[in-house]
Amino acid sequence: MDCAFCDKINLDFRKFYENDLFVAMYNLRPFVEGHSIIFPKRHVDSLLKLDEKEKTSLVSFLDRTIFIALKYAEAYQFDLILQEGEMAGQSVPHVHFHVMPRKAGDDVAKSKSEWLQSFQKTENDIRKNLSKEETQRAVDKLRFIAKEYALQLETL
Ligand SMILES: [Zn+2]
Repeated sequence: MDCAFCDKINLDFRKFYENDLFVAMYNLRPFVEGHSIIFPKRHVDSLLKLDEKEKTSLVSFLDRTIFIALKYAEAYQFDLILQEGEMAGQSVPHVHFHVMPRKAGDDVAKSKSEWLQSFQKTENDIRKNLSKEETQRAVDKLRFIAKEYALQLETL
């Protein structure tokens, strides 16, 4: 299937947390440090098409992944974004949430009201692809945090 999120090689390289239904991976072009993507393992294009089990499991999975991303970025606040449909800026037709840890003076804060627009310009050169090595470093650190806090995560 021609879907970046269903591509097993891509996923195995970038994922840092998962359960039976959902997976979290580090973003190809992080907008801020710790910018991660959360999506169901099943290929489905819309939040509204999640089945009952997925809906029930979603919030706690978001909670756990946000915990990891915040530890990673040493941040306490975050944006959680879902873009549903082309008009909303959805670029991959597989439903996914963006988690962006936020800090004072970060790139999002600098761009102020334009940040959402620049966030949606996923293909322009404001955001540069990470190298393989940069991605590996980030994913290794995120996996380490997930492991280190495994017990605490189960209580979320
Ligand atoms: Zn997919």
